[in-house]
Amino acid sequence: MPRVLITGCAGFLGSHLCDLFLSRGYEVIGMDNLLTGTVDNIAHIRHPGFTFIKHDVTEYIYVQGPLDYILHFASPASPADYIQYPIQTLKVGSLGTHKALGLAREKHATFLLASTSEVYGDPLVHPQSESYFGNVDPVCVRGVYDEAKRFAEALTMAYHRHHGLSTRVARIFNTYGPRMRLNDGRVVPTFVRQALSGEDLTIYGDGNQTRSFCYVSDLVEGIFRLLMSTEDMPVNLGNPEEMTVSEFARVIIEFTSSSTRIVYRPLPENDPKVRRPDISKAKRVLDWEPRVSLQEGLKLSLPYFREQLGLRDSAQARSRDPGATR
Ligand code: UDP
Repeated sequence: MPRVLITGCAGFLGSHLCDLFLSRGYEVIGMDNLLTGTVDNIAHIRHPGFTFIKHDVTEYIYVQGPLDYILHFASPASPADYIQYPIQTLKVGSLGTHKALGLAREKHATFLLASTSEVYGDPLVHPQSESYFGNVDPVCVRGVYDEAKRFAEALTMAYHRHHGLSTRVARIFNTYGPRMRLNDGRVVPTFVRQALSGEDLTIYGDGNQTRSFCYVSDLVEGIFRLLMSTEDMPVNLGNPEEMTVSEFARVIIEFTSSSTRIVYRPLPENDPKVRRPDISKAKRVLDWEPRVSLQEGLKLSLPYFREQLGLRDSAQARSRDPGATR
């Protein structure tokens, strides 16, 4: 059974990767310091091939036995989180990536870095392809994440070139789905939470900024294919279906049949104006593209968000309480 280490296993993406690798016959060692992740995300895993180790990967990482793959997903990933934990974010992207790469070298494992569309910063090229170098302000509050991931990419490539390590770099664009924290500040859980609980939807700025949202099952399939490929240069993974934040707010209001209002709040500093992945490379080298539409992905996510809010799932509610709609 191949063995894989997933750092950040108790986070949103890390926990879905644990499920995917276990379901495909891998032994999974999950590691997390639980700073922004939660054991609730892995509590459902009863698989004998899963081991959880609570550890901060900025410290020396010890794993007994062989490892075939290391997926480095540990990091605060929501703007609100990395602004709250700026130093931890910089440390896990730099020291944490160094430790994880050192372990990969020791174990002769293939290493995959969870990088990000944030390496493109506030992009001046649209859509973003892997050849774009980005437009990042290193000293703005958001810079802690962008620069940590840019450093992590540079370090990964140095281990690849200098030590001959087998490495992969996934540039992950906005992703959503079950197990996102309702209060993590990102737009999908925030709007869904607000709509379901009848609060005003808070659009930052004028709402003309754009994002492109990928459902989590598509994203983890892309990660798996990238890991199994021989592609050692960065690959964008995301859904190229782009919309403005205002359009997204209207989708959520309609989707949840909410009568909530929209209110406008100041745009956070350095909020990127546009973001859309050019995924032609992923299509070409991984034969991958997203399959789940936004409507389908929201439908798949809704039961989780309702449960988190203490609302009964509508299907369950109808079966227990005929005539109920919410
Ligand atoms: N956003 C918003 N209202 C919210 C939360 C976010 O208008 O309550 C906007 C945010 O300013 C950004 C977009 O939604 O333009 C996506 O934000 P998110 O935090 O999800 O991630 P980002 O793509 O900026 O990393």
